[in-house]
Amino acid sequence: MPRIDEKLLPIFEDVLRRNAGESEFHQAVEEVLESLGCVISKHPEYADNALIERICEPERQIIFRVPWVDDKGQVRINRGFRVQFNSALGPYKGGLRFHPSVNVGIIKFLGFEQTFKNALTGMPIGGGKGGSDFNPRGRSDGEIMRFCQSFMTELYRHLGEYTDVPAGDIGVGGREIGFLFGQYKRLTNRYEAGVLTGKGLNYGGSRARTEATGYGAVYFVDQMMRTRGTSFEGKRAVVSGSGNVAIYTIEKIHEFGGKAIACSDSSGYIVDENGIDLELLKEVKFNRRGRVRDYAALRGNGVHHSEKGSIWAVPCEVAMPSATQNELDGTDAQTLIKNGLIAVGEGANMPSTPDAIRQFQEANILFGPAKAANAGGVATSALEMQQNASRDSWTFEETERRLATIMRRIHDSCAETADKYGAPGNYVLGANITGFVRVADAMRSLGVV
Ligand code: NDP
Repeated sequence: MPRIDEKLLPIFEDVLRRNAGESEFHQAVEEVLESLGCVISKHPEYADNALIERICEPERQIIFRVPWVDDKGQVRINRGFRVQFNSALGPYKGGLRFHPSVNVGIIKFLGFEQTFKNALTGMPIGGGKGGSDFNPRGRSDGEIMRFCQSFMTELYRHLGEYTDVPAGDIGVGGREIGFLFGQYKRLTNRYEAGVLTGKGLNYGGSRARTEATGYGAVYFVDQMMRTRGTSFEGKRAVVSGSGNVAIYTIEKIHEFGGKAIACSDSSGYIVDENGIDLELLKEVKFNRRGRVRDYAALRGNGVHHSEKGSIWAVPCEVAMPSATQNELDGTDAQTLIKNGLIAVGEGANMPSTPDAIRQFQEANILFGPAKAANAGGVATSALEMQQNASRDSWTFEETERRLATIMRRIHDSCAETADKYGAPGNYVLGANITGFVRVADAMRSLGVV
């Protein structure tokens, strides 16, 4: 396992000191710096002018109060965040997360990852991320709307189609984007469609954006499997989570001839050996906003629901963690490998711990890191911006065709970079270096800003 090169170590120590207690951010920076030692040896110019120090420091961090009134008339206070990480390649771009676990360190790690991911897509977008510690669970539509309106009342002044373009993430889907866009439009008196992505199709959204992250992750894993002469056909897959990313991952796995047999939420996991019934899962999750245990109850016999233990104990050949960060640890990795795993595609951001990644790599498992594997969502957001700018609207097939091409290019550029740096098949190294070089080259052209 590569360690941080001694020339880069002081940079990491500085990150630790200046961002004390932000463990997820430390983890994300450490993984990237571990990949950069060989780049600096070959191209020392990338370390000039404190370029790597600048890449680790967000351009701007905004923290604000979000007051709102619940259905009982009680005033509630949450905290809002937007970390505008890097705009060398284009306007800041990255989702908003509403979850009680959100804090500045989590948003910073997500914004840092997003910068390299967005570069990997080859589209003109910088990196950012935002959100709130607001918990949408159990809140009425009216409460969600009032929260979104209050959140946007502060955030709007920092956004713009050429400045910063948020999208959804955990807890932020089509309903929330609609409320956020409505308030932005009202405050600015502008129909600036390109200021948010993930919009509804009836007001400027792109076809295939909802499906894009999950579909893209499956395209990426398919490309990895082709390098070993295999495919999804007949393979058992386990997909954690049951939100936007997980559901469309399952859909595409089934289209590719695989069988997704397990999924989860924060209250447990289900195993359906016949393959997950996607229509039922969508009904439970999107229409009823229910739990996976409701799926088990409605589907009837043969579905196992567990509130305890790990979904990664379910034997499978393909694992696609699609819930949240650090949800798959070293012990889970060992179990998966023992049970015949061949490939992992990270749908969520940083779902595997460093120990898990090390074990996958040592066991020669195909491992698609989040930056590359889940980049289809933001790539399709960039396609949405393109359609908004040209006042055009493409068919589902056309948009998905472009998504598939982008995922293949991302796969190939990661694989080629890994080969070039003497680590064939190491997609972690390939993704980190490819993303870094694109951002770094732009930053070098722009001077010290
Ligand atoms: P959703 O809110 O639609 O779904 C999240 C799912 O993960 C839910 O099933 C949720 O369960 C589960 N989950 C979330 N947090 C936890 C937790 N702490 N413990 C256990 N389960 C949890 O979010 P998305 O599907 O959009 O996002 C999932 C992941 O994919 C995130 O890491 C996100 O950053 C990443 N991602 C999303 C993109 C997108 O386009 N949406 C793009 C790229 C990456 P419960 O409902 O019980 O909380």
